[in-house]
Amino acid sequence: MKGKFVTTVLVTLTMLSCNQESKTTAEKEAAPEIKQEMTQVVNHVMTKEQQAALTPEAVLQDFMDGNKRFQSGSTTVRDHSEQARKSAPGQYPKAVVLSCLDSRVPVEDVFDQGLGDIFVGRVAGNFVNEDLLGSMEFACKVAGAKLIFVMGHQHCGAVKGAIDDVKLGNITAMLAKIKPAVNMSQDFAGEKTSKSDEFVKYVSENNVKYAMQQIREKSPILKEMEEKGEIKIAGAFYRLTDGALEFVK
Ligand SMILES: [Zn+2]
Repeated sequence: MKGKFVTTVLVTLTMLSCNQESKTTAEKEAAPEIKQEMTQVVNHVMTKEQQAALTPEAVLQDFMDGNKRFQSGSTTVRDHSEQARKSAPGQYPKAVVLSCLDSRVPVEDVFDQGLGDIFVGRVAGNFVNEDLLGSMEFACKVAGAKLIFVMGHQHCGAVKGAIDDVKLGNITAMLAKIKPAVNMSQDFAGEKTSKSDEFVKYVSENNVKYAMQQIREKSPILKEMEEKGEIKIAGAFYRLTDGALEFVK
C-alpha cells in the first residue's frame, strides 16, 4: 500500500528581490507567493507480497477511503501505460466487485482503484449465476482476492424492468434472476411500482442482499473462506447523484 495514494506536495516559492535587505518586515510579508501544486503519478501495481499482506478488513477500508476520494474529486492520478507494462506478467488484485452493467457506475473509479487492483464482474442487475460464482471463486480461491463486494445502484433499469415484468427476447430470462428481490420487497409500505424511486431502491437493496445470500448458499468454497476469515463479503447501494455508498447489511 506504500505510495498508493496521491501525495500532494505544496511547493511555496517566495519571490525575493535582490534588494531584500532594504525592505521592511511588512514589505517582506507582502511579497508575492507562487503556490504550485504538484501531484504524484502512481505507476506501480499490486505485487504478490502486497496482496498477501492485506486483510479483508483492510481492503474494505481501502475501498471506503477510495470512495471518499472519488466523492471529493481527488482520485489518484495513474500512469496506465506504465501500469499495463508492469502488470502484464501477473495480477494480484485485492477484491472482486459484482456490479450492474450500467454506464453510470464506473466501478474502478467509485473505489479509486487502478489497473490490476480489482476484478470486476458485470451483468445487468448485478445478480449471481453459476458463471459469476465461478468467476468469484477464481478471484478469491485461485487469485487471492480478499473481498467480494456486491454493488447495486440508484435508478437501476434492470431492477425497474423486473418490477414491471418486462418480457423481451433474452431479457425475460435475465430479469427472472432479479425477481426474487422483487418478491422479497412486497412488505414495502408505499407504491410498489417502478415509478417510485424509494421502491426501486428497496428492491435494489434486497437484490444486493439476495446476491450475498446466494454467494454463501451456492458456493461452499466462498462460504468456507468467509468463515475462516480469509475473505469478507460486503454489499452496498451506490448513489448516482453524489457517488456515495450506502451499506447493505
Ligand atoms: Zn442497473
